[in-house]
Amino acid sequence: MKEILWFRRDLRVRDSALLAYAKGEVLPIFIFDTNLLKKLSREDRRVSFIFYWVEELKRELCAMGLDLAIFYGDPVEIFKSLKKQKFSRVLCSVDYDSYALERDKKIDKIIPMMPLNDAWLIDPAQALKSDGTPYKVFTPFYKSLKPLWNAHTIEEYQPSTYLRKASFDYENTISVESMGFRWMRLEPFLYQSPFELLDAFKPKLNTYQENRDYFYLDATSNISTHLRFGVVSPREVFNYLRPLPQSQFYIRELFWREFYNTILYHFPQSQTRNFNALTIAWESNEEHFEAWCEGRTGVPIVDAAMRHLNQTGFMHNRLRMVVASYLTKNLLLDWRKGEAYFASKLMDYEACSNIGSWQWAASTGADAVPYFRVFNPYTQSLKFDKDCLFIKQLLPQLEVLPNALIHKEYGLKDWAMFIGDYPTMPIVDTKSSRLRAIERFKESQTP
Ligand SMILES: Cc1cc2nc3c(=O)[nH]c(=O)nc-3n(C[C@H](O)[C@H](O)[C@H](O)COP(=O)(O)OP(=O)(O)OC[C@H]3O[C@@H](n4cnc5c(N)ncnc54)[C@H](O)[C@@H]3O)c2cc1C
Repeated sequence: MKEILWFRRDLRVRDSALLAYAKGEVLPIFIFDTNLLKKLSREDRRVSFIFYWVEELKRELCAMGLDLAIFYGDPVEIFKSLKKQKFSRVLCSVDYDSYALERDKKIDKIIPMMPLNDAWLIDPAQALKSDGTPYKVFTPFYKSLKPLWNAHTIEEYQPSTYLRKASFDYENTISVESMGFRWMRLEPFLYQSPFELLDAFKPKLNTYQENRDYFYLDATSNISTHLRFGVVSPREVFNYLRPLPQSQFYIRELFWREFYNTILYHFPQSQTRNFNALTIAWESNEEHFEAWCEGRTGVPIVDAAMRHLNQTGFMHNRLRMVVASYLTKNLLLDWRKGEAYFASKLMDYEACSNIGSWQWAASTGADAVPYFRVFNPYTQSLKFDKDCLFIKQLLPQLEVLPNALIHKEYGLKDWAMFIGDYPTMPIVDTKSSRLRAIERFKESQTP
């Protein structure tokens, strides 16, 4: 038996289904996929993040007596050339986004693949209602998993014994720069081990439910990027936090990730189409879209959030909801534009969570916010950043202004000489744009 262990969204050796199911002689590999890389900006921070953790994975595999061969190219071509070495199968983690599904179908014809459910707590194929149909609403989905969240631990995978390193040239000649990218300096926590992050989060667990929306506080676990690339498994996160008192609300959030994965699995068309059959007459104002992307809408909370995303690849969950509501309701622009922009910027970009959450905010998705509930961005900033700590950090132009003006629509209009290049007027009026959205959504509901 000679097997390929294709690490892709599971960059770890602990709790690894690949290492548990592997047998005999193995070739662990990672591929920097040119089909994906060619779509990215040269300054994409995720390439540096992945590279850092792939090198760590190589070190960890070496410590186990194995190694990691790192490739750069088209996976189909790479597997065609590996086929010559008579591998019996490829073990890898499942991936349900549309590109990955197509790619895996082709590779399976070259060397049989054995996809393993290693990035999720549950197998989405098994997550069905008693009538055999998939869940579309979160609460019953969550309730159905009661035995799982009542369990305080989920069994983790142990590596198979007697694995042998297949003979291969394991020397790595690939670097971030050789692939045409800039080595980007990342937020320091991204270099930290997931357990350091979870340790730092532990004392905040008790207040997570109350504090998680205050985006100027560091009240959440910051684990999403590590989870996305499998530097930590969801089982490890669950096992680490679940036994602690007051963990249930946090675990519920982890199940949103599972929920969106089951939605994408059962409704793959929702990647590009409204989950609910609605035909919404979206606006097509490119200037508004650009102002949103660049943080120039004149709405301080929206602009601070977008500038933070552009500078770091991160955005707090509350702010993601605010900017998504602003784009799809106040600007009445198609959620797919926002989803694609987030996909190009978010460090933790995960197709299922991003698509699911955008469709939630746009009121087109599974268990979505009702279309008439439009966030008022000024109320949100007053409630969750009263002292403008986050907003003023990202928009230093507003430093001299009284906070009350920042939380007030048209509050900046007489302050042009104090706020430099920051817009004095919002690009749309929140009240009239809200009414326009409600009307437009109402029209789309009629058959
Ligand atoms: C418009 C929009 C787009 C989003 N896009 C993504 C995305 O591409 N990738 C992503 O991982 N999350 C996405 N989210 C969900 C959420 O914003 C992030 O998971 C969270 O901000 C990550 O920070 P954290 O790890 O500190 O979260 P915590 O609050 O510490 O939560 C712990 C974990 O639970 C999961 N989680 C929490 N909330 C959600 C949620 N609403 N949906 C799905 N999973 C959740 C995440 O895995 C997260 O790491 C999106 C939310 C919105 C509103």
